[in-house]
Amino acid sequence: MSEETREVIETAETPAVESNNFIVQAIKEDLAEGGRCEGMQVHTRFPPEPNGCLHIGHVKALVIDYGIAEQFGGIYNLRMDDTNPTKEREEFVEAIKDDIRWLGYDWGDRYHFASAYFEETYQYAIELINKGLAYVCELTPDQMHEMRGTHDTPATSPWRDRPIEESLDLFKRMRAGEFEDGKYTLRAKIDLASGNWNMRDPVIYRIKHATHHRTGDEWCIYPMYDFAHPIGDAIEHITHSLCSLEYEDHRPLYDWVINNVSVPSRPRQIEFARLGIDYTVLSKRKLRNLIETGIVNGWDDPRMPTLAALRRRGYTPASIKNFCERIGVAKNPNVVHWSFLEHCLREDLNSHAARAMAVLRPIKLVITNYPEGQSETFTVENHPDDPNDTREVTFSRELYIEQDDFMEEPIKKYQRLYPGNMVRLKGAYIVTCTGCKKDEEGNVVEVYAEYDPATRGGNPPEGVKVRGTIHWVDAANCIEAEVRLFDRLFTVEDPDSASRDYLQHINPNSLTVLKGCRLEPSLAEAKIGEGYQFLRLGYFCKDKDSTAEMPVFNRSVELKDSFSK
Ligand code: ATP
Ligand code: MG
Repeated sequence: MSEETREVIETAETPAVESNNFIVQAIKEDLAEGGRCEGMQVHTRFPPEPNGCLHIGHVKALVIDYGIAEQFGGIYNLRMDDTNPTKEREEFVEAIKDDIRWLGYDWGDRYHFASAYFEETYQYAIELINKGLAYVCELTPDQMHEMRGTHDTPATSPWRDRPIEESLDLFKRMRAGEFEDGKYTLRAKIDLASGNWNMRDPVIYRIKHATHHRTGDEWCIYPMYDFAHPIGDAIEHITHSLCSLEYEDHRPLYDWVINNVSVPSRPRQIEFARLGIDYTVLSKRKLRNLIETGIVNGWDDPRMPTLAALRRRGYTPASIKNFCERIGVAKNPNVVHWSFLEHCLREDLNSHAARAMAVLRPIKLVITNYPEGQSETFTVENHPDDPNDTREVTFSRELYIEQDDFMEEPIKKYQRLYPGNMVRLKGAYIVTCTGCKKDEEGNVVEVYAEYDPATRGGNPPEGVKVRGTIHWVDAANCIEAEVRLFDRLFTVEDPDSASRDYLQHINPNSLTVLKGCRLEPSLAEAKIGEGYQFLRLGYFCKDKDSTAEMPVFNRSVELKDSFSK
């Protein structure tokens, strides 16, 4: 192991709680048995296909792949699974790396591409042909489909017994570019009668004249995932190739490849259930569709379940990893509530985010007995856990409060401002509402109150009970901002289910943009992505769309926890 590698492993964050799921147990058994893994350290990989950005489901896979390697003191690779030239792009390669680093994982120098193994993979295909275990087939996809057989009858191919020499010659000419797309395929010669469709002589190479994002026009034949993946794993000496459950039926093929070509090691595939989350879709194809149809504004639109979006919305690496660790690893499909993800974020921000005051739907409150031109300063805590971490806010005659913190005619149990009622202006004074001004249409345009100078700091006079506390900002120095509120993207719990047309269930109100919001001046210093708790309103962070003139804040999550255990 290189010094660099060692350092990466030693500084890697180990999970607070060691997991002991079925994968961990299987690995322990493997290690105890020796044999295949004799003298090797646990070595995993995460193999994203760079055809889109990572979503929260990928994070589950990452936490399993990398978390388990860390738990065993092992190592992990990052491998771009780029065997399909038409859908993959360099921009996604960079975005994926950036997202994984942001989560806090470091693959050191163990960064690979499936496309870097095209030559070896090709040689292994030649090896199979030479062993009589692969042949060049001339069936078109439609013909292959017709001849795939049924449960009880085997598939057929008239080319199965093509002489080795002929297949070798054709395969080499396929590589040389002599044939158009689809003219030939290379198929593994396994078992046309297998009860597992993947074993009925699967295609392992196809002709595709397409420019690859890394290898350019060097290749016009490309290996299929089921052939390339075990080979990539073996070349990298991966001990355990962890993947989601849809690959379970492909495992016999994975093992067949490992057993029939002379790869340098014998990795083992173990599957776990994919993560599903309610009210969203987790498939790059569907997510791309949301972008292409203009329903969202991009991969990092804060309503998306992608890592880029969650990050922009104000999610922290700790909250996301914590979520993935707590949902556990199992074989049964698991759909987790989006509200649990929010719960994990809220927990993290509650202990780390600084507090601030902001008014989203402002109306002016005039303290009529406060001298004009006067101003005073209050020292307030940035965080309830740290009394030494404070900032100053100013108070003067004109403030902004939320429109709904005033009602001229209060509804039952309303404890905020209405004529005659006393409320606490958070951290400042107790005020008594005296009335309001309305425009010609009867809309309230200004609220009036009188303060009691003896209540500085917000303590009510002896014997008086003040029920309502509201937040405010000083009109004299507050800053203006745009604030974006998000709701779930879909109106149904299971838009991802196969029986749904997910595009038919879009929530038309998933985004609310509020202009003219007022923030306390300290928020001018906020950094993009840094979490704040806006009193009574939720957790927010500054968005990258902010300009010098107009800061933009995203609501990461509301304060109220709708997640019930
Ligand atoms: P998508 O349908 O979103 O494109 P994918 O499986 O094709 O998903 P890949 O980039 O090939 O995407 O996935 C990389 C790894 O992430 C794979 O090992 C896959 O098993 C895993 N993975 C993808 N989606 C999920 C999910 N929802 N839950 C858990 N693991 C997932
Ligand atoms: Mg895939």
